[in-house]
Amino acid sequence: MPPHYCVRCGSVLEPRVIEGRELEACPNDDFVLWRDPKVASAVVVEVDGGVVLGRRAIEPGYGLWCLPGGFVNDDEHPADAAMRECTEEISAAVELTSLLCVYHVPKRGAHSMVGIAYRARLADGAQLRAGAEMLEVRIFPLDSLPPLAFPSHRQVLDEFLRSQASEEAASRRRAAAAAPHGRPPSPARAQSRPPHRR
Ligand SMILES: [Zn+2]
Repeated sequence: MPPHYCVRCGSVLEPRVIEGRELEACPNDDFVLWRDPKVASAVVVEVDGGVVLGRRAIEPGYGLWCLPGGFVNDDEHPADAAMRECTEEISAAVELTSLLCVYHVPKRGAHSMVGIAYRARLADGAQLRAGAEMLEVRIFPLDSLPPLAFPSHRQVLDEFLRSQASEEAASRRRAAAAAPHGRPPSPARAQSRPPHRR
């Protein structure tokens, strides 16, 4: 690892154990180079027929597919960053519909990442078009997703599939509760019912 220098006095930082972690710290003053994670966003844009993915025109992951997303700037709310990345990468305005999940990408020798994933839909009239960092943009059905550039995006999509499945189950339960008399009895209930007597 190249040497790092104190931002206060310019000394070369030395390893020091602080709160159980080995960090780089200044031997002359109290400056410590804390290793903070970078914050990123990713967006699952739901459209008729599936979700929107872009094929990357840049490294890392050149030629592979990914969700729209990227690093959150210092002055940005993560939701604003998510919408900005959609404008840049798939050339489309989106409306975020919910927070999907928070994920963590541990790294050694580079900043780890905390990712914040949102669900979104295209804004009215938005058309998909590849931005400068994408070779192409395409809609993929959920049951035939391509190989992705980042394992974390696979995790986000798995989380999305789980959330969709639990929403569908909840809406089935609501429908059943709303119409208790309109449904035929289940086979088990039909069997347990005493025979009808006249
Ligand atoms: Zn110093």
